[in-house]
Amino acid sequence: MSLLNSILEYNQSFVSNKEYKQYQTSKNPNKKAVLFTCMDTRLQDLGTKALGFNNGDLKVVKNAGAIITHPYGSTMRSLLVAIYALGAEEIIIMGHKDCGMGSIDVEEVKKTMKQRGIKDETFETLSHSGINVNHFLEGFSNVIERVEHNIDIVYNHPLFDKTVPVHGLVIDPATGELELVRDGYKLQQ
Ligand SMILES: [Zn+2]
Repeated sequence: MSLLNSILEYNQSFVSNKEYKQYQTSKNPNKKAVLFTCMDTRLQDLGTKALGFNNGDLKVVKNAGAIITHPYGSTMRSLLVAIYALGAEEIIIMGHKDCGMGSIDVEEVKKTMKQRGIKDETFETLSHSGINVNHFLEGFSNVIERVEHNIDIVYNHPLFDKTVPVHGLVIDPATGELELVRDGYKLQQ
């Protein structure tokens, strides 16, 4: 059975057995916080459980590497909306050890793209349009610096309310152990 079919089949019994009842919560986060972290599979549950959060406690924003790529991109917009419209009062930015984006080989990714049919001309066209694919795909080498850089982007954003604490953490995806990078209460103005 394909993944999609198994999803749809499972869903029918999930709904008819009213299993959704255990997950019912409001759209505002109980712990009044928004967590921005990596899409790593190892963090799917661990990334909230190791911090003591349960269903309904948080807004969670994720992407590859927990990288804010642009101050006016979708991640920053999500964080701002969480604060101004959805009841979040604190931001937690959490990178992790052994991140796939920390070791990403951009040339290898481009090679795989070409093997799967992306043409050389496409890279050239993008380059002429001012899009540097290497820059677009690049990761980072130091997760602590990356978390600090994210915090700086948020904290210095013209639309950000500087009374909102922005905390920085790094999690070990094997044990869930946290390292404190930045205590956001000390940043507030
Ligand atoms: Zn990661």
